[in-house]
Amino acid sequence: MEANVRESIAGGLKLGIMGGTFDPIHYGHLVAAETARVELGLDHVLFIPTGIPPHKTDRLITEANLRFEMVEMSIRSNQNFKVSRMEIERNGPTYTIDTLRILKDMFPNQELYFITGTDALKELLTWREPEEIIRLSRIVGASRPGYDSHSELGKIFQKFPFMKDRISRLEVPALAISSTDIRARVQNQKSIRYLLPDEVRLFIKKNNLYQTNKN
Ligand code: ATP
Ligand code: MG
Repeated sequence: MEANVRESIAGGLKLGIMGGTFDPIHYGHLVAAETARVELGLDHVLFIPTGIPPHKTDRLITEANLRFEMVEMSIRSNQNFKVSRMEIERNGPTYTIDTLRILKDMFPNQELYFITGTDALKELLTWREPEEIIRLSRIVGASRPGYDSHSELGKIFQKFPFMKDRISRLEVPALAISSTDIRARVQNQKSIRYLLPDEVRLFIKKNNLYQTNKN
C-alpha cells in the first residue's frame, strides 16, 4: 500500500473498507461509507477500487487509473476517507480475502469493517474463503433499494449461525443509484447530474467515458 495512505490510517482503531469497481463512483457509495463511518464510529474508510474483479468479466471495465482518479476526486473533501491502489496494482483477479489479510497484517490492532451493499452481501457465501473473511473482518451490510437485506441475512445465518455476531445491517438513506444506470444514462445522452459529484460528471465528459455499448 502507498506509504502516505498507510501512515494516515495507522493511528486509528476502527477501519472501514469500501471495495468496489467504482465505474463510476456515485453518491450511493459515498452515503453508505459516510453512514457507516458515523454509525460505527470508524476512524477511516478506505476505498479500494478493484483491479480485475472476478465477478465482472462480462463487460469492459474502465481503465483502473481513471476509476481511481474518480474515487480520489470524490473523497478529497473528507479527511476520514482514503483511497488505495493496492488491488489495482495486484496482478490477476482480486479477492477480498487477500486484501483483508494484507490489511490485518498491516494494522493488527485495528478492527476491520468490510462495508458492502446488500446486493453484494447476498453473494458472500460464493466468495473465496467466506468463513475466513468473516473471521478477519466485521461485515456491514448497507441497505440498498431493491434488495431485501433481512431475508438475505436470514439465509446466510441459517447456513452459518456463527456469523450472526460478525455481520450487521446498516440502514442508509435510500439512494437507488447504480453505476450500471449511470453508464446507461451517459450512453443514452440522459443527465447524470446530482447522481454523483459534479467533478466526476465533468471528468466522464472530458474523457468520453461510457459512450459505447460495451458497457
Ligand atoms: P454496478 O452497477 O457496475 O455493479 P454499483 O453501483 O453496484 O455498480 P459497485 O462498484 O459494484 O457499484 O459497488 C461497490 C459497493 O457499493 C458494493 O458493495 C455495492 O453493494 C455498494 N453500493 C453501490 N451502490 C449502492 C447504493 N446505492 N446504496 C448502498 N450501497 C451501494
Ligand atoms: Mg455492483
